[in-house]
Amino acid sequence: MNFIQTRGCDAVKPKSVTFSQAILSPIASFGGLYVPERLPELGAEFLNRHLNSSYKELASDMLNRFEIDIDKGVIEEALNLYDKFDDSKNPVPVIKVKENLYVSELYHGPTRAFKDMALQPFGVVLSSIAQKNNENYLILAATSGDTGPAALETFKNRANVRVACLYPDGGTSDVQRLQMVTEDAKNLKVIGINGVFDDAQNALKKLLASPEFNHALKEKNVLLSAANSVNFGRIIFQIIYHIHSYLELVRQSAISMGEKVYLNVPSGNFGNALGGYYAWKMGLPVEKIIISSNENNVLTKLIKTGKYDLRNSKVVSTTSPAMDILKSSNVERVLYDLFGDKRTKELMENLESENVYELTSEELATLRECFDADFCSGDEGKKYIKDTFENDGYLMDPHTATCFKAYETCSNPEIKTIVYSTAEWTKFSPVIANALTGEMDAEDIVALESISKTAKLEIPSMIKGLFSKKIAQDIIIEKEDIEKEILKFL
Ligand SMILES: *Cc1c(COP(=O)(O)O)cnc(C)c1O
Repeated sequence: MNFIQTRGCDAVKPKSVTFSQAILSPIASFGGLYVPERLPELGAEFLNRHLNSSYKELASDMLNRFEIDIDKGVIEEALNLYDKFDDSKNPVPVIKVKENLYVSELYHGPTRAFKDMALQPFGVVLSSIAQKNNENYLILAATSGDTGPAALETFKNRANVRVACLYPDGGTSDVQRLQMVTEDAKNLKVIGINGVFDDAQNALKKLLASPEFNHALKEKNVLLSAANSVNFGRIIFQIIYHIHSYLELVRQSAISMGEKVYLNVPSGNFGNALGGYYAWKMGLPVEKIIISSNENNVLTKLIKTGKYDLRNSKVVSTTSPAMDILKSSNVERVLYDLFGDKRTKELMENLESENVYELTSEELATLRECFDADFCSGDEGKKYIKDTFENDGYLMDPHTATCFKAYETCSNPEIKTIVYSTAEWTKFSPVIANALTGEMDAEDIVALESISKTAKLEIPSMIKGLFSKKIAQDIIIEKEDIEKEILKFL
């Protein structure tokens, strides 16, 4: 299968590209994104056949249907990384929290957040393409906390790929920072920036556009790529767990095959939600996809009013920082699917020039047939964390907690809901400790111990071990010096 473009073709880039090409240079004509030219139809027969399949068997068959240009052996090697998850037979447990409400836990991988679901296999795939083409890639990543550790973990010691990862010093949790700075491999460089996440992100964008930097890379025979969540190489692995979670409910006799469910997704860049949308389009029985946000609620406004409005809006820091995003890139793929490339180009160009676009009332109605949305404040989130722990014995992180608001306001309680849990409690422990016991501003290590005691949960060894692990990457620099530092690394 080939991949076409959300904003149409500019006649400079080819009309369609292979999966490998879409992975290596993910930006399409007019600044658009690549999308599959059609979605494979899975349907009831596929679901029935995989009722008793392992996660990997399901994944392998689904990927097969996309007919991508990746060797079978590479896909197998990529999927084998799910064996490293807590339970190799079931990397994504689905837990009943209360009547009609189930949580699909996407955080049982090496870095304890859902980014591993896609980045783990993606690392194998990208490295294999680079080797096959005999090319060397530099992956530049700017992270606010979860993508960095997951990207470093997956590319560690992989052939033909190097990673330079920028993070805002003081802008991540201790656990997230330690996950990065203790990564010791020749092909990884972790750089702390004096500044906030936006500084790291802007520095990276400037670098990508710098002729000197690109010239220097060429001289060293290095090509640039990105592992961010607009890359279809990540999205494709995010369709699988939605299908798996549905089948889990059937296996648990919570639903009968064919019964519709809500998918309730804590959303930032919309990759997770897009995976659910594609799964639905491919035949998964879904009632609606519920988009949950924090105070950065552009998506709620879009889905309620049809207006994507960034005028006078500024990112605010919240207790669910992985969702502190205003430009939610993957929404573009839904616009394309619903309204076509001409209209998508028009809307996205409006957003770029005027900082706003508005759907017509017919378009909004179409969008609302698929999605509903609400947002949850930090204080509300903490209350959901405490109440759900005390009443239902279930502990969740602040991102997952945002879903509980939209569960109350957007869904018909007769219909079963799958909430997606995107991080383990260990990654955002100060907020959770505050929610459970009221203690303020505890350091991670203190908060972890206190939650562990209160909730009688053991701190996983890979988290506990971080605090005594050797720091391998100790560079903190001004943003002006990033280019120099990266060239030194190469
Ligand atoms: C990345 C992330 C999200 C947001 O996911 P998107 O696919 O970008 O919408 C939510 N929660 C956590 C913990 C994350 O790391």
